Amino acid sequence: CGIVGYVGSQSALDVVTAGLKRLEYRGYDSAGVAVLADGGLATAKRAGKLVNLEKELSERPLPTGTTGIGHTRWATHGGPTDANAHPHLDNAGRVAVVHNGIIENFAALRAELTERGHALTSETDTEVVAHLLAEEFSSCADLAEAMRLVCRRLEGAFTLVAVHADEPDVVVGARRNSPLVVGIGEGESFLASDVAAFIAHTRSAIELGQDQVVELRRDAVTVTGLDGSPAEVNSYHVDWDASA
Ligand code: GLU
Repeated sequence: CGIVGYVGSQSALDVVTAGLKRLEYRGYDSAGVAVLADGGLATAKRAGKLVNLEKELSERPLPTGTTGIGHTRWATHGGPTDANAHPHLDNAGRVAVVHNGIIENFAALRAELTERGHALTSETDTEVVAHLLAEEFSSCADLAEAMRLVCRRLEGAFTLVAVHADEPDVVVGARRNSPLVVGIGEGESFLASDVAAFIAHTRSAIELGQDQVVELRRDAVTVTGLDGSPAEVNSYHVDWDASA
């Protein structure tokens, strides 16, 4: 129900968990985070309120990294369990994806992936996206391009945000019939389902258009259509007071 992504120089975990707290009002049943650190991907996820995730993080701290994503889930496919909480990973544990919405054709994609030898471990519609991204990335080595290719195969409504351990300074997002906004800071960039998640850091924002993919780096934001063509980007100033 809420998504936050960050790349910059602060602790991504701190920025992302604070952002998730700002999105709590939307309601959720599980929460999770992924951080890129030490050449790998570290994740934590728990059913229940954010305090459950915080408890998990205090018992099993993640390594510190400056690129990360987070999610609060409102379950649609699969019950509110730890295993169904996001992020979802590929089998190698190199890709992490969080998702709001519904992938309508997930059953067909799941059958196809299983046929190709992937082992899916959750009951969600989301998990197929992690496996498809891993496959596409293995041939193009470009997470934004992998996201474009995968989105072209998806039906439904989605906000998707992903990271790959082989592209540790990049967060990629995509949207169709579900909101996603970019926040542009100085030497840091944000992605969220709602500006409330990053308004403490920047008020310069970009609303992503339908079927657009964004590649987020600390000093660059690139938006394209699903065919890779550059999209026009209009940044705006968020002037409402989100402190309430
Ligand atoms: N359909 C996904 C799930 O059930 C995402 C739900 C959401 O929007 O949080 O895991």
